[in-house]
Amino acid sequence: MIKTAKDALKFANEKGARMVDLKFCDMIGTWQHLTIPLHQLTEESFEEGFGFDGSSIRGWRGIEESDMIIRPDATTAIMDPFMSMPTLSLICDVCLPETLQAYNRDPRQVVKKAIAYMQSTGIADTAYFGPEAEFFIFDDIRYEQTSNSAFYMIDSDEASWNTGRDEGGNNLGFKVRPKEGYFPALPTDTQQDLRSEICAELENVGMTVERHHHEVAAAQSEINFRFDTALNMGDKMMWFKYIVKNVARRHGKTATFMPKPIFGDNGSGMHIHMSLWKDGKNLFAGNKYAGLSEMALYYIGGVLKHAPALCGIINPTTNSYKRLVPGFEAPTKLAYSFKNRSAAMRIPNSGPNPKAKRIEFRTPDPTANIYLAEAAILMAGIDGIINKIHPGDPLDKDIYGLPPQEAAKIPSVPGTLEESLNNLAANSSFLKKGDVFSDDMIETWIQYKIDKEVRPVQQRPVPYEFHLYYDC
Ligand code: GLN
Ligand code: MG
Ligand code: MG
Ligand code: MG
Repeated sequence: MIKTAKDALKFANEKGARMVDLKFCDMIGTWQHLTIPLHQLTEESFEEGFGFDGSSIRGWRGIEESDMIIRPDATTAIMDPFMSMPTLSLICDVCLPETLQAYNRDPRQVVKKAIAYMQSTGIADTAYFGPEAEFFIFDDIRYEQTSNSAFYMIDSDEASWNTGRDEGGNNLGFKVRPKEGYFPALPTDTQQDLRSEICAELENVGMTVERHHHEVAAAQSEINFRFDTALNMGDKMMWFKYIVKNVARRHGKTATFMPKPIFGDNGSGMHIHMSLWKDGKNLFAGNKYAGLSEMALYYIGGVLKHAPALCGIINPTTNSYKRLVPGFEAPTKLAYSFKNRSAAMRIPNSGPNPKAKRIEFRTPDPTANIYLAEAAILMAGIDGIINKIHPGDPLDKDIYGLPPQEAAKIPSVPGTLEESLNNLAANSSFLKKGDVFSDDMIETWIQYKIDKEVRPVQQRPVPYEFHLYYDC
């Protein structure tokens, strides 16, 4: 176990590291990094940190106050698997140079504060998270085609991209055909070896893989790894995305976590399994509906109540809302149910062991910043527990198939990013308890998303408009 700066330095030397890669997560959820030779990493430098230009990072400080500090977290020391020069990797916290205090827009800080807040309420000492981030792996050429061609205009069933030959005459046979990916064996499943290689790399950085499989859409995959506490899981999800993308790249392919790359086929969710624990006991196991405790029901109540605002954080892209439509195993209604995959909150059939009892929130997608998503959902759940927000009756039906009058009674997930951000602007006090999300963080987030994503997407003609309007 690497606990201290000394341990991390010893580990780096044992592994023959020449370089040290300092990684940190920006506000949006992407790793940024800078690299130093090993001799620059001293025990003191773990305290003092390293300077960088924060003004170049999306959503952070202005150019006039751009100096910022990153401080490595020694416990995150791992040899980076993708750099040919032996390189120690360290995940960093972001701090202000004046005081060395944690920066309030550093996502890692937000999740740390959420856990501290949870502990301060006395409700629980530990929150476990098990996110399942689905993803697509495309050939480079295919990725370019999907991003700039007329591909979006047609149903995937009609697309010829998995059969026959492409424009360059290359044989596209033996690819997974649309809607046949879940989950026939080889050779229909063409991503088996890629997934196994990703799993091996995940295990090399200390993650415990549970399974991997093809997902429902063409070229879509899922890999599950063992749950963990909030901060550790945040770091692990960052490693997960990094490894998926870099293994794909190793093979001349690209991986994407965008929620809906292909119209008419399943999108990628990031379902999050959760349970709260105290003194080694699972607080979510009980004798209420589906073997849940009353506390778990209140937690669900809080999450569903705040979901319209939460979506501004857990479904944070314009593309997120193209996934949240009926028919593709993504939730459209804010309901809960035992085993039901069309509900926003599913209670998995986890068998008789109370330790395994958990809830699965299916709304989030993998464009969410994992640290912010965990923190925000936890805050909503705690609000539910504190205010005894009962989630009402479960909905044990196929929600996609409900008659319209019945469906209209159940609240829906928001239809656009703008709607979610408006909800978030109107309902964020539950996130601000304990200063977990600062006013500044929420305001900056909403403004960034509107200015840099919502408006620019709105202002651009999209391919489907050509289909509808070109010959008007
Ligand atoms: N891809 C689906 C989603 O968007 C989930 C499919 C599944 O895991 N059963 O959430
Ligand atoms: Mg799954
Ligand atoms: Mg899945
Ligand atoms: Mg799932």
